Amino acid sequence: MAQTVVILLGAPGAGKGTQAVRLAEALGMPHVSTGDLFRANLAGGTPLGEKARGFMDQGELVPDELVLEMLFDRVAQDDCQAGYLLDGFPRTMAQAMALTQALGDQRPTVINIDVPDEAIERRIVERRSCKDCGAIYHLTFNPTSVEGVCDRCGGELFQRKDDTSEVVRTRLQEYHAKTEPLVSYYTDLCGLCTVPGQNSPQEVFEACLACLGPGSNAANSSSKPTDHLKTPCDNSQKEVGL
Ligand code: ADP
Ligand code: ADP
Ligand code: ZN
Repeated sequence: MAQTVVILLGAPGAGKGTQAVRLAEALGMPHVSTGDLFRANLAGGTPLGEKARGFMDQGELVPDELVLEMLFDRVAQDDCQAGYLLDGFPRTMAQAMALTQALGDQRPTVINIDVPDEAIERRIVERRSCKDCGAIYHLTFNPTSVEGVCDRCGGELFQRKDDTSEVVRTRLQEYHAKTEPLVSYYTDLCGLCTVPGQNSPQEVFEACLACLGPGSNAANSSSKPTDHLKTPCDNSQKEVGL
């Protein structure tokens, strides 16, 4: 079966999770976040969670073999058979190559959300997430109407343990050393669309939709949301501005 695989690349705090939630809903695709999968394993006290904990707390990438097994188990599930939206994967060349191999002839659609390093720390240290539904907020840029309480579900907000100024430095180093090279890997493999990530979340969302094809928008995505994505490599080198 033809699959639609969308990859969101970007530094920690670039807005991948924020956009992934919206895009998954607009396109009717499951949102697969390796960070969320690891956090669920941590919360559940699984052996995988225990192995990942130290790396995550330090801001280092979890070793590829742990990530790959978890990711391929997830995308083998029924809801991913028509396609899926990846947030936070791949993050290393080995992960990207493993995914390319798994996809065979199919090419993913790759969106790179671009935010300069100077803007990242404030994004990260003021991020708050809902304990119950995972919604993402920001104390200044996207606050809840009642402090500490999720607008969507009334759940309690929390700050991730790795969302500190100290850990963000390591996470950015890991990003530049290991993940940023994927921009040229995907540019060569199938083309990649770069979106400026410092506009408003709504503007970034619209730019992401524009990357996914001319027919894409949340309003008309109800019938066959991903038909326009079926041609592989239709997203060659473009920058979507506003
Ligand atoms: P952010 O949203 O800030 O980019 P994530 O929630 O995606 O952070 O990831 C949190 C942590 O989980 C990472 O710092 C890393 O330790 C681990 N992690 C998540 N995805 C991967 C991956 N694909 N490869 C290696 N480690 C990962
Ligand atoms: P990532 O998944 O790439 O780590 P998130 O989506 O969790 O990034 O966003 C990081 C922080 O930045 C969150 O607090 C989020 O509310 C905020 N944020 C996301 N997009 C924007 C934006 N376009 N403008 C301002 N803040 C944003
Ligand atoms: Zn919530």
